[in-house]
Amino acid sequence: MTTWTQLDEGMAVSGQLAAHELSELYAAGFRAIVCNRPDSEGGDTQPSQDDMAQAAQLIGLKFAYLPLTPGQIGPDEARAFAQLVTAMPGPMLAYCRTGNRSQTVYQLAQSHGFLPATETAASASVAADADIVIVGGGSAGIGVAASLLRRQPSLRITIIEPNDRHYYQPAWTLVGGGAFASEDTTRSMASVMPEGVQWLKAAVSRFMPEDKRVALSDGREVGYQQLIVCPGLELHWEGIEGLEETLGSHGVTSNYRYDLAPYTWKLVQELKAGRAIFSQPPMPIKCAGAPQKAMYLSCDYWRKQGRLTNITVEFCNAGAVLFGVPAFVPPLMQYVERYAIDLAFNHTLVKVDGPAQTAWFDVTDADGQVTRIEKQFDMLHAVPPQRSPDVVRNSPLADAAGWCEVDQYTLQSPRFANIFSLGDVCSSPNAKTMAAVRKQIVVVSENLLALRAGVPLATRYDGYGACPLTVEKGKVVMAEFGFGGKLLPTFPLNPVVARRSQWFLKVSVLPMVYWQLMLKGREWLARPSV
Ligand code: FAD
Repeated sequence: MTTWTQLDEGMAVSGQLAAHELSELYAAGFRAIVCNRPDSEGGDTQPSQDDMAQAAQLIGLKFAYLPLTPGQIGPDEARAFAQLVTAMPGPMLAYCRTGNRSQTVYQLAQSHGFLPATETAASASVAADADIVIVGGGSAGIGVAASLLRRQPSLRITIIEPNDRHYYQPAWTLVGGGAFASEDTTRSMASVMPEGVQWLKAAVSRFMPEDKRVALSDGREVGYQQLIVCPGLELHWEGIEGLEETLGSHGVTSNYRYDLAPYTWKLVQELKAGRAIFSQPPMPIKCAGAPQKAMYLSCDYWRKQGRLTNITVEFCNAGAVLFGVPAFVPPLMQYVERYAIDLAFNHTLVKVDGPAQTAWFDVTDADGQVTRIEKQFDMLHAVPPQRSPDVVRNSPLADAAGWCEVDQYTLQSPRFANIFSLGDVCSSPNAKTMAAVRKQIVVVSENLLALRAGVPLATRYDGYGACPLTVEKGKVVMAEFGFGGKLLPTFPLNPVVARRSQWFLKVSVLPMVYWQLMLKGREWLARPSV
């Protein structure tokens, strides 16, 4: 019997069809078929599109051929697909090897507005049967799904993710420094969904681990055998009074938002003289080096333009040290001195008045006494406080600090054996970075499959995280370290030296590694060291 997934009233998708199945589809009401699988992809067993077109014509079905390559489905393909949908009679069924490419291109056509958006009726029923549900389609969610499918292609995986766009956040620092195009840091969510995955476009609103279910923001519920929790962290902009309403104006910016990183670069170019403040909130934050990376790249530009002598630069840090791993402080201090940066430790940004270009800081002295002080600025690069998302913080999965509790070595929940977590939301005490996610993916994939197979969880995470510190345009100090600040350099080079090769790695190699390897389950140098 032929099976398909009904996406909405007018559109269904399926895996590879045989010519003899077309009459059954006609009887079920379909009037048009689109083949999205390139000819010969499956060797001799795959019927050619010519044979399928002839069979369709014989029984009165319209047929079209629009071959799609996995990972290369973009706006052009979506537009072409939309044209077919508009030109052909409905209801329509599109197929490829598993149905995933067809679903991706249809959803992409909707998200670009080439086709009207519809409620995806099939999602709930299919998701309820999933083996593994993944919460969040960010770096961790997409990466771990691809990794699992590469190991076991037959797994039925559902990703729950509300956003249409997927972001490569590590390049936002470069955007703010004029060294990367912001549009190259984002792709449509549909285009990064691994082949074979079911995407539910909704947010998880409640975890019910005892029942092995999650509730969604649209009222549906989804069941699972294993759950992977990776919705990232919450940027708590409201934690700084007045900040959100003034971001993007009056010289107030933040590389922590996609739309604001280009504004950082605009401000840097325009500032000729005055005071520039760069703030850092209390830990933990994602990419702990990012607040000062923004500062060094700005200073480097001002220095090269001969303006730095007219600009006072202050680093107002809620913490008491420049960088958490002591080995990297001396090379950073060389740049602090080169750029004549004033370091203000124990200064927490609490309030901003954009039109008055004034910022307030709570300053904690050695006795723990807190005093509020006020500073004028011409440019303010603000980083918001960060915390676990509400939905995790107020769930049975949370630890005392609100993060999704895991064993730091196996990344398995200590209370619910069928739940794993990785990425920024998990409680493991590593640096919250993409680099950490790259290694955690291997740990979660292997341990989750071990659990399914009933064998011990053997893969252990070493706490690896990395922070490419962009100390000047063209040079990076590559801080790579694991639990307890243990240095874990990937290459046999002195890690505390600023290098051009590491800049090249950061700007040209790592983005490619992300899109082409990590999101596709190809694990280059991703195995933890223990
Ligand atoms: P994310 O990639 O943030 O994804 C979380 C996903 O979950 C999102 O798609 C979100 O829509 C979804 N979600 C949220 N809530 C829900 C819900 N309720 N239900 C379902 N889905 C939900 N890392 C480095 O390694 N190197 C760097 O140089 C670096 N620089 C950085 C610079 C900046 C300015 C920033 C902001 C980050 C930087 N990072 C860097 C950190 C890196 O981007 C993150 O650590 C990484 O993206 C974490 O991946 P994640 O999947 O946990 O979270």
